[in-house]
Amino acid sequence: MGGLSRADAAPLVSVCHCPSYDPSDVSRAVDSVLEPLGDMGAFVSPGERIGLKPNLLMAVAPEQAITTHPAVLEAVAVRLLAAGASPVIVESPGAALANSARALRHVFERTGAWEVAERLGLEVCMENTGTNVSNPSGRLLKRLDVLTGALEVDGLVSVCKLKTHTFMTFTGAVKNLFGLIAGMSKGGYHARLADPLHFADMLLDVAGFAAPRLSLMDAVLALEGDGPGTGGRPRFVGAVLASTDPVALDTVACRLAGIDPARVPVLMQAAKRGLPGADAAAVRVVGDDVEDLYKGAFLLPAQREGDRLGFGAFSALQRVLLPLARGALNPRPRPKTGRCIACRACERACPKGAISAVDGLARVDDSLCIRCFCCHELCPVAAIDLEFVGAARVARALRMV
Ligand code: SF4
Ligand code: SF4
Repeated sequence: MGGLSRADAAPLVSVCHCPSYDPSDVSRAVDSVLEPLGDMGAFVSPGERIGLKPNLLMAVAPEQAITTHPAVLEAVAVRLLAAGASPVIVESPGAALANSARALRHVFERTGAWEVAERLGLEVCMENTGTNVSNPSGRLLKRLDVLTGALEVDGLVSVCKLKTHTFMTFTGAVKNLFGLIAGMSKGGYHARLADPLHFADMLLDVAGFAAPRLSLMDAVLALEGDGPGTGGRPRFVGAVLASTDPVALDTVACRLAGIDPARVPVLMQAAKRGLPGADAAAVRVVGDDVEDLYKGAFLLPAQREGDRLGFGAFSALQRVLLPLARGALNPRPRPKTGRCIACRACERACPKGAISAVDGLARVDDSLCIRCFCCHELCPVAAIDLEFVGAARVARALRMV
């Protein structure tokens, strides 16, 4: 893993009509979207362990259109096997899920992924714990809590789901990779990055780290309205998409769903970063015509439909609760007397202006701190400790964070 490519000046997205989840329809569609990209053999080598990352947000049946359909997962896994690779299903479902193999297996079973794994003899990562790793190319987060099993593969193939998302407006190829953040750590990221644009930046950092070799999208039965969970409602689209560029894939998927990219924080931030996949005019689409597949704009989440203040605007209740959640789920950076040399590197690194070196010691304003830990990452003399205090210490003891 490592690096969201900026090299491909004209990202390619492949689209194919797929009328149902009948295995023959899905198989034909997956072959069709792969063909212009170079088939699976172009992305994996014989003998490689390849992480296969579906969107398995929660323990729900495939018909609810919340998770990657097992027929699509199976079609991709079959092609990985045919190319000589060994697929390993890697997924850390939603943040509310306890870190236990039993809870994980329940999600895999309900969503149909377990049956696919058994039928094809696939390995399934049954650990939902993470390793804190360096992410030097990250713009917002220099360290990430990544699912340990996802760090033990040679490469990654993502199989995401087209859905609306209450917080992010839309979830597709980029957001799917947030499922590589381990267990309940995801809740800490949400608490820390309450502003949708900050959160989107974090998602791009995660996508850059994960760098999937290939992303496919299950857009046969999508989800609209108050997604990405049970508040949404299934919406037939009838398509499968693929690309090496998750941003470009999301750009085209938004066209398919009639969602304005200017309302999608991930695409807004990707455009600010100059990622070519966010430039609809620069993305080349091959295969079936998106306009022919388009059946009208998706219903957006109510929160986004009514959002007249723009991203980053919060209700009074959110303003009260979010700092509490931040404090409850995340450690606090604490510069230490005796180690801090007042070099001010942390001050320069802090995206919130929450830290300043005064009288020979860096001091943190907790009310401004978003717990991104850039200061901790960049302190040249390891003078900043991360301390769990109060409710956070209790949550830590209960293995909730
Ligand atoms: S970067 Fe480290 S040493 Fe420099 S001021 Fe901050 S805490 Fe002190
Ligand atoms: S003080 Fe440190 S953890 Fe807090 S916002 Fe600034 S850089 Fe991030």
